[in-house]
Amino acid sequence: MIDKVVIANRGEIALRVQRACRTLGIKTVALHSEADRDAKYVRLADESVCIGPAAAAKSYLNIPAVISAAEVTDAVAIHPGYGFLSENADFAERVEQSGFIFIGPRPETIRLMGDKISAIRAMKEAGVPCVPGSDGPLDNDEARTLAIARDIGYPVLIKATGGGGGKGMRVVHSEGALLSSIALTRAEAKAAFNNDVVYMEKYLEKPRHVEFQVLADEHGHAIHLGERDCSLQRRHQKVIEECPAPGVSSEMRERMGAVCVEACRRIGYRGAGTFEFLYEHGRFYFIEMNTRIQVEHPVTELVTGVDLVQQQILIASGEPLRYRQEDIVMRGHAMECRINAEDPTSFMPSPGRITQYHPPGGPGIRVDSHVYNNYVVPPFYDSMIGKVVAYGDSRAVAMARLRIALSEMVVDGIKTNIPLHHLLLNDALFQAGPVDIHYLEERLKA
Ligand code: ADP
Repeated sequence: MIDKVVIANRGEIALRVQRACRTLGIKTVALHSEADRDAKYVRLADESVCIGPAAAAKSYLNIPAVISAAEVTDAVAIHPGYGFLSENADFAERVEQSGFIFIGPRPETIRLMGDKISAIRAMKEAGVPCVPGSDGPLDNDEARTLAIARDIGYPVLIKATGGGGGKGMRVVHSEGALLSSIALTRAEAKAAFNNDVVYMEKYLEKPRHVEFQVLADEHGHAIHLGERDCSLQRRHQKVIEECPAPGVSSEMRERMGAVCVEACRRIGYRGAGTFEFLYEHGRFYFIEMNTRIQVEHPVTELVTGVDLVQQQILIASGEPLRYRQEDIVMRGHAMECRINAEDPTSFMPSPGRITQYHPPGGPGIRVDSHVYNNYVVPPFYDSMIGKVVAYGDSRAVAMARLRIALSEMVVDGIKTNIPLHHLLLNDALFQAGPVDIHYLEERLKA
């Protein structure tokens, strides 16, 4: 059994993992940069190790420093959280080679799913529906490339196989712009991901983003925990997420859930994971798999009652899954707002001291955040400072509770996107739901 876990992350997810460990009676080691030295969650851990200066490249992304910290603290396992090293196959491999348990999938699975082309190929073979596309990388054969696009039909999307975080994508509306757009995407991908391999997909014009949560143990048993709708996005970054997805019937859920479970078996998946789909005109199209815990996992936890982070740790300990598919019952509705330290209109980051912090509460409200009065939001990392999640027996109740919670919440001293959330939660079309992935940006323009 795992009795000590190194948490190789920061902020709200570091605290979330710490809580899961503590409920399992597992000791925790908080890794932190010099910028996060004084954070309360670091003090709350059983031990802490400073792994480098503020810059993430020298601390949270510093693989030798993370592994040394596990060695000096005599830890058994490493939890990577999300972002940073969580989907780095080389890191997972180094963790295992150094004799520690990586709380996540096998390194080869991370590698397979980390490359979008190999991921799509594996999913197609497993019977998962994918977006019509080039079926592999685009080469230098211009005539072939033009023919593929004609075949798919414009608009098409050029995507970098190594892309992530919404970067490395370009929409092309007509043949005249195709070849130059491919060259541009290649150059950008080379600079950003050191990988200039690109592929082509049909650009779906009004899809929703619907994703399925799975859990799989290393004994070949997998289950799904239903879906989430994450269509409210800005620059491909999720802003509000909910579970279940409005309008997805239980038959559809069972059918697509079973497809995802079967895919897990085929690729020998282990741990928690998410199959991301675009959903349009009643059909699902796989876009990518996230081989880690996700920011939006709490909405699924509230609706299913399953502690996903705890399950990740138990699976990593080699335990068989404690749930069978029939044990997973989705009840009620949950919705999450990501709270960012940023200007609500210009979206410029707004780091600095939080002079007053008052989190909301009451029935059905969950706040996952590491901040407090006088906490200083450092300028070096992602601007998310926490999540407010509401649960209710219906979508309308969850939304009403979320609106009230946000109206109670006080975060002074910095700017946050709470006003944007108020706008969205009071928006008639979003209230009626569902909306597509372009809705938020269109709404902002208006
Ligand atoms: P990343 O790894 O950068 O998150 P994804 O493949 O998950 O990239 O795509 C991110 C977002 O881009 C999706 O949530 C969706 O909004 C948009 N997108 C991706 N593929 C398509 C497509 N074929 N058609 C329309 N929009 C797409």
